[in-house]
Amino acid sequence: MLAHNDFIVFSKLMTIPKHPVTRGTKASLEFTRSAMASKLNWLRAGVLGANDGIMSTSGLILGVAASPGVTSATIVVAGVAAVVAGSISMAGGEYTSVSAQRDSEKAALQVEKQELFDNPEAELRELAWFYEQKGISPKLAIKVAEELTNKDALKAHAEAELGIDSEHHVSPIQAALSSFIAFALGGALPLLAVIGPWVEYRIHATVTSVVFALILTGYVGAKIGGAKTGKGILRNLVISLATMGVTYVIGHLVGTSVA
Ligand SMILES: [Zn+2]
Repeated sequence: MLAHNDFIVFSKLMTIPKHPVTRGTKASLEFTRSAMASKLNWLRAGVLGANDGIMSTSGLILGVAASPGVTSATIVVAGVAAVVAGSISMAGGEYTSVSAQRDSEKAALQVEKQELFDNPEAELRELAWFYEQKGISPKLAIKVAEELTNKDALKAHAEAELGIDSEHHVSPIQAALSSFIAFALGGALPLLAVIGPWVEYRIHATVTSVVFALILTGYVGAKIGGAKTGKGILRNLVISLATMGVTYVIGHLVGTSVA
């Protein structure tokens, strides 16, 4: 029989069941939080990608628009190129990084599999040791290790030893696609603002829309991370206004000297 505290510790070691069985208890709250955390991670990645798209595209657009005598057509071409190049580059970077991560996880799992085959006794003690390090009593730790080994030894070792969730792999293609979409959506905003019919006010329109969008992404980003929203928004705005300011000045200087 496990004491209540043991159950809380124990529940943290286990993966999240699809349906929490003990509603309303502290343990079931932990389950729900973990499940939500993985969904929020995706949302956070999306918000960050969109944030990147907004900042880098608006910076580039303002740099081009600051050049005296530049035509709307030039701004549109530059803006579209910025969104396309940025989205592809983000997707490519994400694909490479997730693939590399997956390759190293696969290699580590292969080593672990061999170790389990060669020396199951030592591996069981090793697994128990990991649970002891988490603060579980030696007696309970060996019991947990035994039961998990009987269920799925490789999965237990992957989680405890390597920190790998062997069941929920992020696909590189999926990660790349989400990055692409998030950046493109973010980048589309300043692009739409600058090519609108308000030619005279295209710079005002771009800056205004970017400021509002970044207040939103800064707020959502901070909310997801459980951080103070004011700080997140302010940081977002300062970085973005600085980016637009710098590219505007450089665009103006370069545009004037080459014209
Ligand atoms: Zn092991």
